[in-house]
Amino acid sequence: MVKCPTCEGTTCIESADDVLDSIYQIYNACPECQPEPGWKKHTALADQPGMPAINNFNAGTLRCGSCARRPLDAVMAHALSIMLKHGDRNDDAGLSQVGTPLIAKGFPIMYPPRLGPDSIVLITDNVGLKVAEDIVDRVPEIKGVVSRQGGQAESVGILDSDSSPHEYTLLAGCDMRCDVAQTVFGELVIYKNQSKIHIEFDNHHKMDILEKLDMQGLLAGRVVVDGMCGPGTLGLMSMLAGARKVVFNDAWRPAIKNLLLNIEVNKELLGVDVELEVVVPVEDLSVVGNDPVLVARVMRGGEQTVVAAEVYFGDLRKLSGIVEIWDVCLIDAFPAMEPSDFVNIWTEKHPGGNVIVV
Ligand SMILES: [Zn+2]
Ligand SMILES: [Zn+2]
Repeated sequence: MVKCPTCEGTTCIESADDVLDSIYQIYNACPECQPEPGWKKHTALADQPGMPAINNFNAGTLRCGSCARRPLDAVMAHALSIMLKHGDRNDDAGLSQVGTPLIAKGFPIMYPPRLGPDSIVLITDNVGLKVAEDIVDRVPEIKGVVSRQGGQAESVGILDSDSSPHEYTLLAGCDMRCDVAQTVFGELVIYKNQSKIHIEFDNHHKMDILEKLDMQGLLAGRVVVDGMCGPGTLGLMSMLAGARKVVFNDAWRPAIKNLLLNIEVNKELLGVDVELEVVVPVEDLSVVGNDPVLVARVMRGGEQTVVAAEVYFGDLRKLSGIVEIWDVCLIDAFPAMEPSDFVNIWTEKHPGGNVIVV
C-alpha cells in the first residue's frame, strides 16, 4: 500500500492494476439509477426543474438508492448550493460557474459519469477557504478543492530553471488524482498532485508522436531522454515500448515526486523484475533544479541487472553535458514556452540524435 504524498491517506493511491481493473465499470449507471437531471449549465440553480431549495440540498439529493452514487450534475449543484449559501456566487449562478471537475481516476468516457465517494478534484476560482472546507466536508464525491491562480492558459509548473514556478492552491482535502494513459504499447496510470502539475485534457497527439517514433524504430532498444518529463507519461510509455534506457528529467521538484510515485505504482506493468533505487531523497532537493542531480535509478533484474531508467532533477540544457549516449530527446514544452533554446543545445551536442518537440 502506498501512502498519499499529499494527505498521507491510504485510499488515494492504488496500484495501476487495481485502477485498470475497476475503471471501465465505475462510472456506469446501475439499472436503478434515475436518468440524468438534464439541467442547463447557465440557468440559475433555483430555476432548474426539479431542483430542491438551496437549504434542502444535501448529500442524499439525487443519490441512487441502489448503487449510492450520484450524477455529476447533482454533485456540482450540491457544491454550488454551498457556494451560494456562503455568498461566494451570485444568486443567478448556474452550474457552469462552479468550476472544472477533474475525475479522480480520469479516462475518456463518452457519457456523464455516476460518482461515488472521493471521485472529483474541483478546480475553481474565487472561493474562500471556509467554503472549500465546507464543500469537502459535505459533498462526499469531492475529495479536494483547488483554487486556480492566474488565467486558464497559464500552466502550472515552471518554464525553465530561470523562471519562478506557477502553482494553484489546494484549499481543502486532497488534490491527488490519476489519468489512465492508453497507447498501442499498453496502459499506464499517471498520478498527479493537481495543484502542482499542469492539467492536460487531451494528450492524444503526444501518444501519436510516440507511436510514430516506434514505427520509425526509434523507441525499442533505444536510449530515450524524456527531457521535461513532468509526472512521467512519455518516458514510462517509452519504457513500455521497449526502450533500452529512459533518462527522465525535470527541473520542478513536484514533478519528480510524482514521477517516482508513478514508477512505483506502474512497476508491475513495466516488468516484474523492475526496482526503484532512490539516490537522493526528494525532500533534499530544492524546489526548482539547476545543475542536474541524479535522483533515482530504475533497475531491471534477470541474469544481469541493468539500468532501465535514470531520473534527473535539473535544467535540461545542462543535462546535455551529462548524458553522453542517447538516440531520442523528447521535449514536452508547455504551450506558452519557446523550446528552440533547448532544441539547439541538444541538436548541437549530438547531430545524429533526434530531438523531438512534443
Ligand atoms: Zn490524498
Ligand atoms: Zn444507481
